[in-house]
Amino acid sequence: MEGLTTKDKLIPNSAILQSENLTKYILETSVYPREAETLKELRNATASHSRGFMGVAPDAGQLMALLLKLLNAKKTIEVGVFTGYSLLLTALAISLDGKIIAIDPDKKAYEIGLPFIKKAGVEHKIDFKESPALPVLDKLLEDPSNRESFDFAFVDADKDNYWNYHERLLKLVKIGGIIIYDNTLWGGTVALPEEDVPTPKRRFRKATLDFNKAIADDSRVEISAVSIGHMV
Ligand code: SAH
Ligand code: CA
Repeated sequence: MEGLTTKDKLIPNSAILQSENLTKYILETSVYPREAETLKELRNATASHSRGFMGVAPDAGQLMALLLKLLNAKKTIEVGVFTGYSLLLTALAISLDGKIIAIDPDKKAYEIGLPFIKKAGVEHKIDFKESPALPVLDKLLEDPSNRESFDFAFVDADKDNYWNYHERLLKLVKIGGIIIYDNTLWGGTVALPEEDVPTPKRRFRKATLDFNKAIADDSRVEISAVSIGHMV
């Protein structure tokens, strides 16, 4: 799933299925009218943050909520919380007794979203870990009862660790579960020649290319690369 801001746009897209107008239409017709009030409020509170563009796009979030409900997910993991848009939508989509282990070293950003999580009445489902994700995942793996016990994981953090997360999550998520990796098209830059990509984006573009190749070769999982979530 991709989050792309207007100023980030690199690829002028004339194809109808990728047009800004079409995205706007989808958001206005199918997404915004059904978005929970607390999610809308959290999204608006995040928009004023200097890195507000990092929140998962609402149309991508809607697909995620659908998958969570199809799975009847109870135990989930989130790597990369930021202000908590994807976290709140996960908390709203999972069952009443569901639990989310949410990991991010940036507690300040989480606290921006926390009032809306409380207002939605789902804070009890969240176990926030103020830490980089790898040590937390390794700790979880030390307890055998955690193995293959999670229904779902959402990874939306440091791109160069995606493969490290993958190896651990495959042990934590049960067979039949779903792992979503966000931004694996890196704003469309994966399809551009390196020289056309702004220098600051090259490092994660490279990490993303390597990850996509590795996961395409990973016969342990079924995969689908989805281009969704272009913000307009
Ligand atoms: N999922 C969020 C957006 C996450 S943005 C949403 O939809 O709103 C990426 C986040 O990853 C940032 O908040 C950043 O602090 C966090 N992050 C960076 N490195 C990390 C790491 N090693 N482990 C966990 N989180 C990390
Ligand atoms: Ca993201």
